[in-house]
Amino acid sequence: MNEIVKTEAIVLSKLNYGDSSKIVSLYTNEFGKLSAIIKGGRNAKSKIGLVVDVLNHIQIILYKKDTREIQVISDASLLSPFLKIKDDFDKLKFAQAIIELLQKLTVEHEINHRLFRGVIRILALLNSSNEMPIILFGRFFIFFLEELGYAIQLDECSVCGKTNIYNKELSYNLEIGILCDECRHNHLESYVINPELFNYLNCLKFNKKIELTNVSVAEKSILFMEKYLMFHIPDFRGIQSLKIFK
Ligand SMILES: [Zn+2]
Repeated sequence: MNEIVKTEAIVLSKLNYGDSSKIVSLYTNEFGKLSAIIKGGRNAKSKIGLVVDVLNHIQIILYKKDTREIQVISDASLLSPFLKIKDDFDKLKFAQAIIELLQKLTVEHEINHRLFRGVIRILALLNSSNEMPIILFGRFFIFFLEELGYAIQLDECSVCGKTNIYNKELSYNLEIGILCDECRHNHLESYVINPELFNYLNCLKFNKKIELTNVSVAEKSILFMEKYLMFHIPDFRGIQSLKIFK
């Protein structure tokens, strides 16, 4: 069926196509991830070609046909260009990491309004809040894992069920989960979760205020979540946009 539809979207990537067109990958609110063509999009005067650019939050009108792999964009307007992100190398690096996760790990046409809203919210915060980009990215990453169906469980020891595990040296075993200070001695350890990292992950997960005194705990938390995701999704080879700090 052919229909004309309207949706909000974030632009994930953009490529030249043929002599005059552009093909874009979009993460949309109404239809999940999809590919679309901007006919004449390579022309410098194409309004749609300018509006539909990587990282922009836009509203689009699509000629949509379910049997077609690539939809046609008939109009687009800009909701936010996130200019402060594009002007700041650190913000941009983490915004690219968000785009990369959406590009690599969301499934075409799988609709998730909560994830879409979460992406817009975190990009708006990266753009305008004073919180460190690495913390904002961590907040997004732990939420994204949950939306993918791989929430990290931090409430209780995965073996004995003990819940009071704060302020102790813990382990994480990728197959079993978090291990308390007693159970950790009887299982293989994939990761040491010291009290500082455990507390930080909890703050990310439950959206608590973070006063970061040592940036290495934020880096460790991202490496941990990345390894965790690589374990659950073997095709995923890590976040290329962040290789720079490894
Ligand atoms: Zn235990």
